[in-house]
Amino acid sequence: MRTPSLAAAFLAVLLTSSALNAQGTSPPPVDLVVTRCDGCAEWNEPQRPFRLHGNTWYVGTRGLSAILVTSSAGHVLIDGGLPESAPLIAASVRALGFRLEDVKVLLNSHAHYDHAGGLAALQRASGADVLLHPWSARLLRLGTSLPEDPQYGLYLPFPGLQARRELSDRDVVRVGDLAIIAHFTGGHTPGGTSFSWRSCEGTECRDVVYADSQTPIAEDGFRFSSNTRYPTVLADFERGHARLESLPCDLLLAPHPGAVQLFERLARRDAGEANALREPNACRTFVRTARERLAQRLTSERTPK
Ligand SMILES: [Zn+2]
Ligand SMILES: [Zn+2]
Repeated sequence: MRTPSLAAAFLAVLLTSSALNAQGTSPPPVDLVVTRCDGCAEWNEPQRPFRLHGNTWYVGTRGLSAILVTSSAGHVLIDGGLPESAPLIAASVRALGFRLEDVKVLLNSHAHYDHAGGLAALQRASGADVLLHPWSARLLRLGTSLPEDPQYGLYLPFPGLQARRELSDRDVVRVGDLAIIAHFTGGHTPGGTSFSWRSCEGTECRDVVYADSQTPIAEDGFRFSSNTRYPTVLADFERGHARLESLPCDLLLAPHPGAVQLFERLARRDAGEANALREPNACRTFVRTARERLAQRLTSERTPK
């Protein structure tokens, strides 16, 4: 994944929440916060929301996923994009005909500004419970970066929040008849979490997996092969890869939609290829690439510069 250049980073500016709020009292306001990073504006380009399959909907921006899973008893929303993505995600939920206030649970793949940045605003606007991996919960509670993160020094700040509950590995998140399983798949960060659920449209069912980022990106000086900040990083990657490979998986989603060629597939579906989003064994293919990238990274760490 691209990591935005950080020349003008470390600035998250609360711009106009009061101005937006002044325009009306309902529906609940969603704060507008703008992150200064190269690439953020492109990530945050609007995207029309669309149905992925059955009760599973894409409500993210063009470059950052947010996934809505719906039920008659309430909904689950996974990931909040950048801080400035929150109003777009809220608008997409509403454009599909759903109420943001019916989102009962917010989940997060990993606690970086491009996937957790909008969660605080979405939590306030929806009243949903945020359920997080314990490491991510600590980070969001402190509202600061943590040195275990391989990207610690590259980290952009974003609004923090208090998680309602901490998840455990294989936890089942339930809202109405929804059952979304949390899988701890760390490495990219110690708190990396993937999610799986089954979604049916009539008799056509999909095993959906939202696989967290598996990219071994780090700041200068961090070595995945040997470090004291996050000594279990390779074991976490391996456990996560093994878990993802083991899951039934024929509709694969990811925090960065480009990682699973989502919009290329969507274009094919729009052109009439009904099953373009479906790929048997999609997670195995995804993990093969992830393993290759990690091996390349470890090789480069052994190569003297
Ligand atoms: Zn990340
Ligand atoms: Zn990312």
